[in-house]
Amino acid sequence: MHEDEQVRRWNGWGDESIDFALNDDMLDFLRARVGDGKPPADATLAEACRSVPPGRLAPHRYIDATPEARLRHAFGQSLPDWLRLRYGRVESVPDGVAFPESSGQVRELLDHARRIDAVVIPYGGGTSVVGHLTVPETGKPVITVNLSRLSTLIDLDPQAQLATFGAGIAGPDLEAQLRARGYTLGHFPQSFEYSTLGGWVVTRSSGQQSLRYGRIEQLFAGGRLETPTGTLAIPAYPASAAGTDLREIVLGSEGRMGILTEATVRITPLPQREAFHAVFFPTWTEAENAVRSIAQAKLPLSMLRLSNPVETQTTLAMAGHHRMIGLLQAYLGMRACGEQKCMLLAGASGDAATVAHALKQALRIARRYRGVHAGAAIGEKWKQNRFRNVYLRNALWQRGYAVDTVETAVDWPRVRGMMQSVEQAARNALSAFGERVHAYTHLSHMYAQGASVYTTFAYRLAGRYEEDLERWKAMKGAACAAILANGGTISHQHGVGVDHAPYLQAEKGALGMGAIRELCRHFDPTGMMNPGKLLPAS
Ligand SMILES: Cc1cc2nc3c(=O)[nH]c(=O)nc-3n(C[C@H](O)[C@H](O)[C@H](O)COP(=O)(O)OP(=O)(O)OC[C@H]3O[C@@H](n4cnc5c(N)ncnc54)[C@H](O)[C@@H]3O)c2cc1C
Repeated sequence: MHEDEQVRRWNGWGDESIDFALNDDMLDFLRARVGDGKPPADATLAEACRSVPPGRLAPHRYIDATPEARLRHAFGQSLPDWLRLRYGRVESVPDGVAFPESSGQVRELLDHARRIDAVVIPYGGGTSVVGHLTVPETGKPVITVNLSRLSTLIDLDPQAQLATFGAGIAGPDLEAQLRARGYTLGHFPQSFEYSTLGGWVVTRSSGQQSLRYGRIEQLFAGGRLETPTGTLAIPAYPASAAGTDLREIVLGSEGRMGILTEATVRITPLPQREAFHAVFFPTWTEAENAVRSIAQAKLPLSMLRLSNPVETQTTLAMAGHHRMIGLLQAYLGMRACGEQKCMLLAGASGDAATVAHALKQALRIARRYRGVHAGAAIGEKWKQNRFRNVYLRNALWQRGYAVDTVETAVDWPRVRGMMQSVEQAARNALSAFGERVHAYTHLSHMYAQGASVYTTFAYRLAGRYEEDLERWKAMKGAACAAILANGGTISHQHGVGVDHAPYLQAEKGALGMGAIRELCRHFDPTGMMNPGKLLPAS
């Protein structure tokens, strides 16, 4: 067992020692919207380990075949993953978990897997929310390859502002190594605490400050992919017109073509200053018009995040600090920001003059749409808690509530329709079970062309595995259908995995799907790499 795994929750998010303190206001707020939750009975780790079936692998020096290691690598963080873990439905686990320490050992493992006709699932931080790590129903043995030991800084070139890391390095370690040398990658997905550089690249992830630093596509300059047919080395050029860009083949490959063992990324000197300010708008219409204008003004901001009225109410209810929030609400009420108000967080990073200029210009545009500047305190709090809020999901489960999210990106004219349709689709889906959904949305990443639309659903658990899975399937299916009907991509940042695979053809077309399938076959002729993800199982 790798030492990092010891303190990690086996059936939920994060570090065992960290809990999110739910206050009464939050619980009352949720109860009023979806009803009283009843905590389900969780399986214990010992019970779950006893359900793990016998492994089918002969002993191997890189492979740990203990039930606990296999269990801990069988799932990600999707709601179906949680249901399986919490209810102890853990029959589908890998036969062993390998912990290679170099590209050479990864190569050896791939050769070994090919010889014994095993399936291989690369494992980064295990934070997938769309079933990327699901162990397929197959007669073949399954080896999950944990890449956490490929985590060193291999090279840093200050002149070219490039850093090469082992691809299994997790967010905090990567940033700590860069910070010690005066740099940052600036890639901060909410899963930062555990997700890895390799995982970010192959799922095309997006960090919260992508407006300044770019998505991982802009940060990934080159790397090394060990594939069943050989090593694909991709040199890092500042730019190239030499035909098809091989990085694009690796980006979004979701472990289907090989294992990324090294990645070279574009780094930035640490910013001198960083600030996040809150602005409230009276209604969604004004708020959306304002953020579109700000995004299209192409100001040097690092983040724009706009919450709709229900998310704004939810955020304020969860903030605690009863008196302060009451005073803020009273002040906003006097400035026409009542029940329908929407909160924008605008961030900027860089030298002090750039930060001041970017925020000043953004606030000037916001004022044209009746935006009320609420200062830096809320933004500062958001920054402090941005990787802590995810622990709320554990706390809500213990009170009998499930939380899930869907996300997409769409052009500006379709943003409002998308938001309304996705929320309504989820409500309709659960009303068939006699249940209510507390659904709310924010725009998390802004572009001149459009925005990502990120919707959260909170609802009651039934307390029975089959019924909870049915509820989730109905809600997820309805939300995905609404995304397609409103012209959105099936994912802006979470990727495809198994959960989104049935919807991929709608945006790639038959010819496009054929091209992806042939690429996978080129690198992996026997189909041993992470089958069933990205492309529907054939
Ligand atoms: C609470 C929470 C918040 C999140 N917030 C965000 C967010 O803000 N932005 C965002 O984009 N995503 C977010 N995600 C989704 C998830 O964190 C990302 O998809 C992330 O990029 C996955 O990285 P990982 O290292 O955990 O990969 P894993 O979950 O371990 O694996 C994901 C896929 O990548 C493959 N893989 C992993 N490493 C390699 C490698 N080195 N070589 C080849 N294949 C590999 C796996 O086989 C699998 O198919 C969030 C998830 C959670 C649970």
